[in-house]
Amino acid sequence: MPGVPTPPDMTTQPRPVYVIGGGPGGLAAAAALRARGVRAVVVEKSDDVGASWRRHYDRLRLHTTRRLSALPGLPMPRRFGRWVARADVVRYLERYAEFHELEIVTGVEVTRLESDGNGGWTLHATGGRVLTAAAVVVATGYNHTPELPDWPGRDAYPGRLLHAADYRDPAPYAGLDVLVVGVGNTGAEIAVDLAEGGAARVRLAVRTAPHIVRRSTAGWPAQRTGILVRRLPVRLVDRLGALVAKVAAPDLSAYGLPRPATGLYSRVREGAIPVQDVGLIDAVRAGRVEPVAAVEGFEGPEVLLADGSRITPDAVVAATGYRRALEGLAGGLEGVLDERGEPRAHGARTPAQAPGLYFTGFTNPISGMFREMARDAEKIARAVQRHLRTARS
Ligand SMILES: Cc1cc2nc3c(=O)[nH]c(=O)nc-3n(C[C@H](O)[C@H](O)[C@H](O)COP(=O)(O)OP(=O)(O)OC[C@H]3O[C@@H](n4cnc5c(N)ncnc54)[C@H](O)[C@@H]3O)c2cc1C
Repeated sequence: MPGVPTPPDMTTQPRPVYVIGGGPGGLAAAAALRARGVRAVVVEKSDDVGASWRRHYDRLRLHTTRRLSALPGLPMPRRFGRWVARADVVRYLERYAEFHELEIVTGVEVTRLESDGNGGWTLHATGGRVLTAAAVVVATGYNHTPELPDWPGRDAYPGRLLHAADYRDPAPYAGLDVLVVGVGNTGAEIAVDLAEGGAARVRLAVRTAPHIVRRSTAGWPAQRTGILVRRLPVRLVDRLGALVAKVAAPDLSAYGLPRPATGLYSRVREGAIPVQDVGLIDAVRAGRVEPVAAVEGFEGPEVLLADGSRITPDAVVAATGYRRALEGLAGGLEGVLDERGEPRAHGARTPAQAPGLYFTGFTNPISGMFREMARDAEKIARAVQRHLRTARS
């Protein structure tokens, strides 16, 4: 993609391509379209671009490298360092939108998509708006809606119960006994943040032991390994992963975190990317984060764990993931979403019954999502161009 934006030729394209969502996925797609002279309008429900990154917890950094996380047409500045801080990701996204002179409408939520049967689309949006589009790119985010399990007794729990999406920093938990539920990247990092930030006790409820990998080893980032092995057979990568883990990551079985029974890449295929170690290994070994069994429910102030034990933390942070929540937008369209509510077609491919409808950012690849969204943006832009040509002819 050329570095300098070129103004789109709007004379031949009366209806714009609408991109739903002003996160990295949507901005990248809009920039790639614009670079090809296709008019793209980003519709963002919040007041600004990068809404997800504005809300994430303070300590967060990209665990993919600066270079491998840049979006099309604009590198991230060197001064951001190798592991880019959350606030710098926000700065980058703001700058990205400016640099590419993207057309962005904020404060508008698209609620439903409707096909015109001819490759074009109608978008129903808040405030009674009805927009017509030559094509649509859905970039509303893999981590759209926080998922808080409906644990029995949950609503009567008198302690503080929140989803990780509402966790910012450890200050409010100083001196408290906190249980973090879920050991994905978010749960692992919040547990360490709490332990370092003055919580009196931190326990981490684990249902399935995760694969834990070093963020980088002798300067080699785990993400690069992810990129290299991505297309290899799953069983081979599982075997390689087990060998590497034995050398690179200590066995934490004695602390309640056994090595997982299922291979690393098999877990990725099930949707669980490995946990990048940003302090969990040391915290567990030092007893500052204590792994415990999975949460089964609540009884008054007690949290019931899968091994039969009961604990009484002051606060529970549920790092239990997110839903795509695409049903409202696309659930009424035949053949677009699968049984899990995820898009059947992704990137440059469109669902057979829904030409002109594209999805980006709905996979969770081992090679890094920023990188994949950047690559998909280019592919989507090419596919949209073809779609517009077909629709015109
Ligand atoms: C804690 C955390 C850390 C991560 N770290 C990394 C990392 O290090 N490297 C990496 O590659 N990936 C990382 N990811 C994964 C992924 O890259 C990010 O989640 C990224 O923000 C996804 O970009 P996106 O544009 O698809 O979605 P989002 O950034 O979530 O953007 C979606 C946008 O769409 C808007 N929106 C949603 N619905 C509508 C609607 N109906 N109408 C209008 N607007 C709407 C939202 O307000 C939001 O602004 C991380 C994810 C999380 C949760």
